[in-house]
Amino acid sequence: MPMSDIEIAQQAELWPIAKVADTLGITDDELIPYGRHMAKVDVTRLADRPRKAKVVLVTAINPTPAGEGKTTTSVGLADALRRMGKSSVLALREPSLGPVFGIKGGAAGGGYAQVVPMENINLHFTGDFHAIGAANNLLAAMLDNHIKQGNELGIDPRRITWKRVVDMNDRQLRSIVCGLGGVANGMPREDGFDITVASEVMACFCLATSIRDLKERLGRIVVGYTYDRAPVTAHDLHAEGAMAALLKDAISPNLVQTLEHTPALVHGGPFANIAHGCNSVMATDVAAKLGDYVVTEAGFGADLGAEKFCDIKCRMSGIRPDACVVVATVRALKHNGGVPKAALSEENLEALEAGMPNLLRHVGNMRDVFGLPVVVAINAFPTDTPAELALVERRCQELGVNVALSEVWAKGGEGGLALAEEVVRLCEQPSELRFAYELGGIRESVEAIARRVYHADGADFTPAAAKQVAQLEEQGFTNMPVCMAKTQYSFTDDAKRLGAPEHFRITVRSVKVAAGAGFIVALTGNIMTMPGLPRHPAAESIDVTDDGRITGLF
Ligand code: ADP
Ligand code: MG
Repeated sequence: MPMSDIEIAQQAELWPIAKVADTLGITDDELIPYGRHMAKVDVTRLADRPRKAKVVLVTAINPTPAGEGKTTTSVGLADALRRMGKSSVLALREPSLGPVFGIKGGAAGGGYAQVVPMENINLHFTGDFHAIGAANNLLAAMLDNHIKQGNELGIDPRRITWKRVVDMNDRQLRSIVCGLGGVANGMPREDGFDITVASEVMACFCLATSIRDLKERLGRIVVGYTYDRAPVTAHDLHAEGAMAALLKDAISPNLVQTLEHTPALVHGGPFANIAHGCNSVMATDVAAKLGDYVVTEAGFGADLGAEKFCDIKCRMSGIRPDACVVVATVRALKHNGGVPKAALSEENLEALEAGMPNLLRHVGNMRDVFGLPVVVAINAFPTDTPAELALVERRCQELGVNVALSEVWAKGGEGGLALAEEVVRLCEQPSELRFAYELGGIRESVEAIARRVYHADGADFTPAAAKQVAQLEEQGFTNMPVCMAKTQYSFTDDAKRLGAPEHFRITVRSVKVAAGAGFIVALTGNIMTMPGLPRHPAAESIDVTDDGRITGLF
């Protein structure tokens, strides 16, 4: 039996975190240790330091049940760069407890390409998500209290948009009635919980550049509307100071290491549909100041994660990628070509050929729409055949894009050297990030993303969504990027249409403002902001021994 991810991680010999920090020139004074192998980094000394690193964005084809391996590839690539003598730093998202206990499992990489200590990173880590949940729920409590204490602002309880959150897949809380029990117990109303990673506080946290910027963002959060339909903000409730106080430690990036001792900043973790899906700006920023190469991952496929990385995170922060890695697996490409999950291990060149357009479209987008040098990383599985690998390589080369086989899951950094060499070569090429759209009208931005990135014929707005657009523009919420909430499985808004569909339109059903985060959210289809657990959640297999060793995490 091959070792599981957690077994590999538990056999690793970790460096004391101060030694990892030292490789980046982080001093003891700047390190706030959380035990022996995790620390927060006080970034104040670095505030005015220029960013010097090459930034490598790791993204992927549309996700499938077959798994793509973006985090695994990111970790292995950073290790490979370090083996080449480069000072590489990872910037990754923190895992949410929802997927850890649900279907997907942890999010600290896999095989011999992991960040450690994986049990801590996957469970409470340094408590950032708890702090974000507390800040979110403080605002909810202050909002309901304001109504109970006389409702001076005239908040319409039917138009409250702010929800409470918990970092758990708990569908029971998705829609609730709260405030029951009579006059002393609040105002009864319909409500619901979101998962913490879907909170706008998470998005604010990840886009903030300082405590002050965070506080200003939190103050701008719209929590609902008055009886006159005017927006009510967290600032109106005098909540942003206390919320920021709860987040003052959390906002410092967390430092851990890979199995090969490459430094990794793991910080923040917003959803990639209703939010922008990448780690905090502060982590990427400090990584770019300290290292020569930053390897960072964007969630889901390139149509969602990479698009938002460029159009939202880079636009707001000035961070600029120098190269882009598009991760694919032969299995996932065959799935995109119509093969069911059970048959993915058999060689099937026809299905692979049919699935290739999905990869080629993402590659074309990253290069031609966003202007980035691209390499395709094939995340190797033992079932891949030489003929299948050759086919992928041939099709990509027809586009003038190189393919590197990545064997980091099986071999660690050594298995990523070919990819690392190509990444270094691409980073030397001149490139300039372009955005998919310029700021201006909400409809125009959505239309541009739909046409240029999804290759749709256009975007339609339901009458309700069109009305919301008009209201938001009237309230002055223009000049903001748009965060598309769309299924991750397809270029279209229909999860079942795999591959690279043509001749379709996108339907926007609802539009809302995330004024603190600083973007407009356009919802297509039903986007779940509180997931549920499957019939047999991963939690059933997780345990802890009498001496405190965790088992069954993957
Ligand atoms: P993503 O970041 O794209 O969601 P991950 O890197 O987290 O994907 O990988 C998802 C799962 O697939 C992890 O459990 C990981 O161990 C597994 N995995 C990734 N690459 C491979 C591989 N080459 N062979 C086998 N399992 C892999
Ligand atoms: Mg990942």
